[in-house]
Amino acid sequence: MAGTNLLTPSDIRELSNELGIRPTKTLGQNFVGDGGTVRKIVSHAGVVESDQVLEIGPGLGSLTLALLEAGAYVSAVEIDPKLATALPQTVGARHDRPERFAVAQFDALKIVDNELAVPPALESIAPTHLVANLPYNVAVPAILTALEAIPTLQVVDVMVQLEVAERLAAQPGSKVYGVPSAKVAWYAEATRGPLIGRGVFWPVPNVDSALVRLDRRPVPTADRERVFAVIDAAFAQRRKTLRQSLGNWAGSPKQAEEILRAAGVDPTLRGERLTIDDFVAIAKAGEEALGS
Ligand code: SAM
Repeated sequence: MAGTNLLTPSDIRELSNELGIRPTKTLGQNFVGDGGTVRKIVSHAGVVESDQVLEIGPGLGSLTLALLEAGAYVSAVEIDPKLATALPQTVGARHDRPERFAVAQFDALKIVDNELAVPPALESIAPTHLVANLPYNVAVPAILTALEAIPTLQVVDVMVQLEVAERLAAQPGSKVYGVPSAKVAWYAEATRGPLIGRGVFWPVPNVDSALVRLDRRPVPTADRERVFAVIDAAFAQRRKTLRQSLGNWAGSPKQAEEILRAAGVDPTLRGERLTIDDFVAIAKAGEEALGS
């Protein structure tokens, strides 16, 4: 294991003071000051020596250092210019192989694989893991954007608000199964991981967190945008049957019923019962029936 000095709660305060950082809610800035927690995330993600890891929102570097400690190469994307600028120095002072780390300052919602920062020790980077303590307000779009933009990602293991972790890992029939669950299922199998209490953060948020792990699965053979349009329509009016909720999408409830029957889906069900394969079948039947 490489020599690494993880951040403690007092390091977090000191670094924030030195950099003049006042954590903002808008950017979901809650920093972890607990070595046990960041090591738990790294081991839950299964990161081992020489893995190439993408980290979104490294902040002051708590999780970054734990990833480097495990022997990973880390390419980070941080939106806050002060944090992005300071991070290489923190890594250099606390880890003995800083050439395994690089950071780019941009918005993870605009992530493009050829714009990731390449650690000096590598010639190019093709991350297999996304590991992050995600900013709460953009967690779901950040995950979906990364899975779409970076095809080499095999595992996404992230800390998110507990409720979001539950939604992402929900299966059809669950009360919390919805748009994020179905869209993530297009890319991956999701499993909820351990709960993380709010006390490990500074500032302390008013919600608990949990890990969620996504293991990539083969993408269905269908047009993703068409399938996502069906998912959005099915959940826009959650309490209605599919015949009704897909009425606008199909042109009329009657047309929706025909498409649903052609797809082998019961029109009296609600969206919350459908698997990603059902949504794919509806999108395909819709394309045949509507021709557009
Ligand atoms: N990883 C650090 C830790 O565990 O202590 C910080 C986690 S904090 C919950 C979220 C981080 O994401 C902050 O550093 C914040 O500035 C950054 N961030 C927020 N929105 C972002 C975005 N759209 N793209 C990239 N980084 C973002």
